[in-house]
Amino acid sequence: MQTGWVVLVKNNKIEQAGSMMFKLPAGTEIIELKGMTLLPGLIEGHSHLFLHPYNETSWNDQVLKESRAERTVRSVNHAKATLLAGFTTVRDLGTEGAMYDDVGLKESIEKGLIIGPRMIISTRAIVATGSYGPKLSADNESIKGAAEADGEDALIKEIRTQIGKGADFIKIYADYRWGMNKEAQPTFTFEELKKAVEIIQSSGRKLVVHAVTPEAMKRATLAGVSTIEHGDKGTEEVFKLMKEKAVALCPTLSAGESILQYDGWKKGIDAEPQRITDKKKSFQLALKTGVTICMGGDVGVFAHGDNAKEMELMVEYGMKPIDVLKSATSVNADVFGYGDKIGRIKKELLADIIAVEGDPSTDIKNIRKVTLVIKNGVIYKKP
Ligand SMILES: [Zn+2]
Repeated sequence: MQTGWVVLVKNNKIEQAGSMMFKLPAGTEIIELKGMTLLPGLIEGHSHLFLHPYNETSWNDQVLKESRAERTVRSVNHAKATLLAGFTTVRDLGTEGAMYDDVGLKESIEKGLIIGPRMIISTRAIVATGSYGPKLSADNESIKGAAEADGEDALIKEIRTQIGKGADFIKIYADYRWGMNKEAQPTFTFEELKKAVEIIQSSGRKLVVHAVTPEAMKRATLAGVSTIEHGDKGTEEVFKLMKEKAVALCPTLSAGESILQYDGWKKGIDAEPQRITDKKKSFQLALKTGVTICMGGDVGVFAHGDNAKEMELMVEYGMKPIDVLKSATSVNADVFGYGDKIGRIKKELLADIIAVEGDPSTDIKNIRKVTLVIKNGVIYKKP
């Protein structure tokens, strides 16, 4: 944390940042931020701009009953809410049945047709046949929330297709609640994951996996993925391996909290559900082991624009506010491969800058009091 800094933005870049040791060019617009904290634009590490809260409409019904047009219209609103909440970048982890529509959403934002965050996208995500929903009955096959591919050849073809359509990275479900018993078990073999990493990395991209079981987390880590999403049942052995192999964890604390609350848990009144107690323990174990922690809430399960919920929960579950702020900025940027462009207030980086009232490093709730939003040098909100 620095005091008294001046940041000079020219076009879409940060031209200078630091104490007032440089002269401002004539005609510079000056925005005073007394009593506020200037930060790099926040980076949401796990969003689904094509989903909206499950207590409004269940995931199944969103995938099965909402038209693609409706889902796109919703995503436009979600993108705006996200940006104005200070999240200037999202890593979006799959359209969940809306095919490649994230490509068009991203392009519409880049062309200035609508306002929204910088998007890093995965398009459809990849699942093993039989593992993913919606699941209707043994006789009734529906459209799926992701692309099914099995075996190395099919995986290679699906990965290359998604890259061709515009995927910036690939998401694979390394485990899921298979079949009808709703029990999470590993899906892809180690060999399949390893081949996927080889193909993806040779295209200059990264693989991220959904995994909650220790076995799937272990396979993914050894295969060389970039991040593991959720990681609910991570053990000390798995977290040590992740640290050793520089695989980051995106814990998505808000997803679990939201779903349990939709199911009737009254937080602060009812007893803490076992799932929350277990999640706190595994998150604290990951922290203690020194695993790199990304900030990503699985937003879409809960409301877009409420992304800060995850940052508050990370603090509540035992992480220092300053470390949470780093996760949401420089750490996410570095882990996602964008550290030379965003995530820091630094000369030559893109001008993605926000300000909030007060100091979020002493009270994380201040991160919600957004007064200034600049993305790519364009001002979207100012005090
Ligand atoms: Zn997700």
